[in-house]
Amino acid sequence: MKKQTIAIDTPFCRKDVYGSLSMPVYHTAAFEFETASDMADAFTGKVLAPDYSRVMNPTVTYFEDKVKALTGAANVFALCSGMAAIHDALIVFAEQGKNIVTSNHLFGNTVALINKTFRRFGIGCHSVDLTDIDAVRNAVDDDSCCIYLEIITNPQLEVANLMALADIAHEHNIPLIADTTMIPFTEFSARELGVDVEVVSSTKYISGGATSLGGLVIDYGTFPIVNERIRFELLFNVGNYMSPHAAYMQTLGLETLHARYEMQARNALLLARKLSKTPGIKKVNYVGLPDHPYHDIAMKQFGQSAGCMITIDLENIEACYRFINRLQLVHRATNLFDNKTLAIHPYSTIFGNFTHTEKAKMDVLPTTVRLSVGLEDVEDIYDDIKNSLG
Ligand SMILES: *Cc1c(COP(=O)(O)O)cnc(C)c1O
Repeated sequence: MKKQTIAIDTPFCRKDVYGSLSMPVYHTAAFEFETASDMADAFTGKVLAPDYSRVMNPTVTYFEDKVKALTGAANVFALCSGMAAIHDALIVFAEQGKNIVTSNHLFGNTVALINKTFRRFGIGCHSVDLTDIDAVRNAVDDDSCCIYLEIITNPQLEVANLMALADIAHEHNIPLIADTTMIPFTEFSARELGVDVEVVSSTKYISGGATSLGGLVIDYGTFPIVNERIRFELLFNVGNYMSPHAAYMQTLGLETLHARYEMQARNALLLARKLSKTPGIKKVNYVGLPDHPYHDIAMKQFGQSAGCMITIDLENIEACYRFINRLQLVHRATNLFDNKTLAIHPYSTIFGNFTHTEKAKMDVLPTTVRLSVGLEDVEDIYDDIKNSLG
């Protein structure tokens, strides 16, 4: 079956007693058993049955099953946020004395997770330009535990060659872990590009209009330790599983994901083209524009679409603030891939607690405004932006 059908019609693992057409929300902390031995089997993992909603809940399992069917993954774990998913995927491999090979171009909280939180536990980081394959080869050593990247970096919009990175990782018997939040898994196969573990902030495209927070670890089974550690260690001991209510909303979000994404990516491309010809903007950065330095590799890897995030550079920070303050339709808000179009100044917000020097190292510029293009009519979005440029 095609992905659009799978996203709608994946069957429940067990028939609902009332024949409910939507997966019911099992709003319960615990599950009851017929016998003591049934209970023992569930608790020891001999039988996969829900016992306690920190570890397993049928509504969440159904969401995970749909993602599994859509990606062909061996295991999928739905967690309470994108950051929880990134934390769990990395902590499966990282430990004292090991290092993570990654770039300076990462989501702000991921930079802080790796460089601040993990450092306190003796986990190092080898920061390298992931588009420079020789540099990556030199950065990996015997203590490296994984190569980690974002498929289109935010807000720089850099795209590395996944297959080349996977080759280096696999030569060292370590996984390539990719944050694929920027392009939904309905549009391309990370597995075919050599990715071993995919992490996604399902808060973004999947939630269906920013209804809830969520994260996914999509495990392709190439490193069995991912399933062992997350299922039998981290879910129990860390407790960052998705809530049943969030899973219900995100399951609905999955049903319309492809349709929404197609429309939003089309809006983003049309808007980027118009903005490139608009006076008052110094630079338009969108991977979907043919003259973008990473256009060709992005099209090859991600199936002819480039996501819904555009950045524009204006004269200076004052011009950015003035522009954002004038917007009438576009919302002043963080988040990506809401149904609504959003604008934010990353330098002073998402990266606001980093020093100027740290931001310069990450190529986060004071002149950049980030736009997440929504589902409104593109003419209306463009008019608001044009009028707000003054
Ligand atoms: C938003 C985002 C995250 C964090 O996800 P949350 O669901 O907000 O915790 C991680 N990576 C990328 C690329 C993101 O855009």
